[in-house]
Amino acid sequence: MFEKILIANRGEIALRIQRACREMGIKTVVVHSEADKDAKYVKLADESVCIGPAPSAQSYLSMPAIISAAEVTDAEAIHPGYGFLSENADFAERVEKSGFVFIGPRPESIRLMGDKVSAKQAMIRAGVPCVPGSDGALPDDPKEIIQTARRVGYPVIIKAAGGGGGRGMRVVHTEAALLNAVTMTKAEAGTAFGNPEVYMEKYLENPRHVEIQVLADEHKQAVWLGERDCSMQRRHQKVIEEAPAPGIPRKLIEKIGDRCAEACRKIGYRGAGTFEFLYENGEFYFIEMNTRVQVEHPVTEMITGIDIVQEQIRIACGEKLRFRQRDIMLSGHAIECRINAEDPFKFTPSPGRITGWHPPGGPGIRVDSHAYAGYYVPPNYDSMVGKVIAYGATRDQAIRRMQIALSEMVVEGILTNIPLHRELMVDARFIEGGTNIHYLEQKLAHKPDLPKDGAIGAKSEAADAKADQ
Ligand code: ADP
Repeated sequence: MFEKILIANRGEIALRIQRACREMGIKTVVVHSEADKDAKYVKLADESVCIGPAPSAQSYLSMPAIISAAEVTDAEAIHPGYGFLSENADFAERVEKSGFVFIGPRPESIRLMGDKVSAKQAMIRAGVPCVPGSDGALPDDPKEIIQTARRVGYPVIIKAAGGGGGRGMRVVHTEAALLNAVTMTKAEAGTAFGNPEVYMEKYLENPRHVEIQVLADEHKQAVWLGERDCSMQRRHQKVIEEAPAPGIPRKLIEKIGDRCAEACRKIGYRGAGTFEFLYENGEFYFIEMNTRVQVEHPVTEMITGIDIVQEQIRIACGEKLRFRQRDIMLSGHAIECRINAEDPFKFTPSPGRITGWHPPGGPGIRVDSHAYAGYYVPPNYDSMVGKVIAYGATRDQAIRRMQIALSEMVVEGILTNIPLHRELMVDARFIEGGTNIHYLEQKLAHKPDLPKDGAIGAKSEAADAKADQ
């Protein structure tokens, strides 16, 4: 096992990885920007290295700074967390070329799955069902684009091959709007992701977002750890996640889960990963794979009893998976609410000093957060300040526990989306289960009495780095 791991991330996931390492008796090196020098996990680390100023381009995205931090501290492996460099194949390659272990998949797998066009093609070959659409990237010829859209059928969605974090997508309802939408998405994709390639998919009108968690080792063993329902979204960003997905027949989930594990073996995948699907009318359609740990991994940990971060570390060390598919038992229900420093209904970021912090507790409640009273939420990064996870023997119990947890939780000094979560936990359609990906936006659009802006915290500034989902 490794003796020392460098954590190349920040916020709650840096603390989460650190906890996993400490439990395994592994020393931790934390890299941080100047803005994060007072973070809890920096204080708790065996060693810490400041790698640059607040803007992530000069710190958390600086490959040379992170690799030299690993060199000077003699770390053996680098855990990238989520967002930042976690799905950057060039980074994974540079880490390995510099003699460190990258805790994640091989660079080739990241490259294959990171390009959504090649990922879809690989999944079609592996027998995983995909959303109908263009065969690969869209060509330049306008006639061909029009033909493809006619074949797929309107509405269609134009998506950037290199897109992520819910950006780089445009829905098109009519042929008149098609070519302009393609041109605009291409231009945006080129600027935002450095790759102007786009592709087309049928736009599913009322799907749910259901994803499968997998773990695969170097030795071609792969298992899937159940599914997560992440349909409660705003602007394609997840707000609430739960496991299992309510109301989907187990037989269907098992079939798709087995396909995902099989796809991992076929592409020689290593590490933790997530296959994301849209689910509509009893069918699953693959949309993309995330080749890293996800924000919502705790709900799976709660219902399987498996520590996904520790398994990532064991896999990176070359160990064989310690369980087979038949050993994976799903029990109970877990729900996660992402706590963001933002206006609960207008969604403007609300960075600033947290003056009061009272997290909830009690049976079945887990809080993953790096925040504390006195912590300053920097304006430079993603607005998520923590996650509350509620576990129960049944979905009803998990909801009840989450309602209580949210009623106990107090965060002062900044605005948070806790009021929104409180509303959603008593929402009749959410309680019923199985809402689709548009539900939250529709609910918000019909809200008659949007509260007035009562910002207490510091003035909002645009975040310069959105952590990926
Ligand atoms: P990203 O990598 O940016 O997260 P995804 O491909 O995972 O992009 O899509 C994010 C979200 O966009 C999905 O959860 C869903 O809400 C919506 N979406 C993507 N593709 C489609 C589609 N073909 N039809 C309907 N909604 C879609």
